Amino acid sequence: MNLFDKSGEIRVTAFKDQCDKFHRLIDDGNVYFITNGCIKPANKQYSQLKNDYEMTFTGETMVQLCDEDDNGGIPEIKFDLIPISQVSNMENKEAVDTIGICKEVGELQTFTSRTTNKELKKRELTLVDMSNAAVTLTLWGDEAVNFDGHVQPVILVKGSHVNEFNGEKSLNMSWGSILKINPDIPEAHRLRVWFDNGGADNIVSVWRGGASFSSELITLKDAYLRNLGSGDRLNYFQCIAIVQNVIQPNSFYKACPQMYCNKKVVDEGDGQYRCEPCGTVSPNFKYFLRVKIKISDYTSDREVICFGKIAEQLLRHTTDEVVEASENDPDRALKIFTDPNYTSYIFKLSCKKIVYEGNVMNTLTAQSMTPFNCKEYNKYLIKEINRMQNIAAS
Ligand SMILES: [Zn+2]
Repeated sequence: MNLFDKSGEIRVTAFKDQCDKFHRLIDDGNVYFITNGCIKPANKQYSQLKNDYEMTFTGETMVQLCDEDDNGGIPEIKFDLIPISQVSNMENKEAVDTIGICKEVGELQTFTSRTTNKELKKRELTLVDMSNAAVTLTLWGDEAVNFDGHVQPVILVKGSHVNEFNGEKSLNMSWGSILKINPDIPEAHRLRVWFDNGGADNIVSVWRGGASFSSELITLKDAYLRNLGSGDRLNYFQCIAIVQNVIQPNSFYKACPQMYCNKKVVDEGDGQYRCEPCGTVSPNFKYFLRVKIKISDYTSDREVICFGKIAEQLLRHTTDEVVEASENDPDRALKIFTDPNYTSYIFKLSCKKIVYEGNVMNTLTAQSMTPFNCKEYNKYLIKEINRMQNIAAS
């Protein structure tokens, strides 16, 4: 647990007996007298608190709840609030306290942890503030389930952690993080007034659904001219493009039935399927979508591969429905594969070099597809024009 007083904060650990003894007594938000704790240098690997020491409870430790009268001198939790615009300059895993308006709220997502096999629940919020920036904050567990963002509340977080993924930085609630909704502090009231008067209308750096302009928005021709994906590393970029056509043949394959392996299996011919990467042979397989599409913008066109969930999003049907139609209902399949034509998306693409039969090729894979929103894009363009005018003027 983390303790705070008017001078600062400290991490406290109670092991075995002490844990059993105290865990029912101690509750979030209460004030306690603590005597005979043992102080030692902090293990910074586990603690993000601003204290060089931490406390351990021992057999001698006493914990006593303070009455209302006693805690007059002890302030609320201390926050070291930073503007959201600064998050992009922070290091991965660094602790962040910040406050912003929840401009957008994502759906609750449920998935199974790869490492523990436990079911996890999360929800992503988009926070904005007067620094004219936006950041994604991920809530977990009950906090994610119970969160109601439709009223666009003020959100204050303490001890959230910077999470860097594909060069984009977001905030993550983790053990010891604190979330306050509509806290009664002056910063919150200022934000409310600013937001309710349209202050955040021009903030477009985060797009609902995970796509964001923090990886560069360029044209297909730019991507070609810059030789993206020609080196040994994956490159990422975003482009606004239209789906020209979807290639129907070979749009799915028999894949390894293991949950996180989507590799093609080898049909052994005796009712067994072998997965080379997993080194397993099993009597079943699952179908997995691998759909090639051609996309174009005003500069060029390119072939892009959509896998799994993204292919389902594109075709607006589940894998089973696509396989069923492809095998048994040619008319329906044709409709499924032509319906996506001429729809616009913001594609987030990864770009990499592959060597196939001695030829070096460059393939694009869709990482996400966000339906294109003209209004939001206009805001982005206006912001860009203003930025360029400022450069020209200075
Ligand atoms: Zn496998």
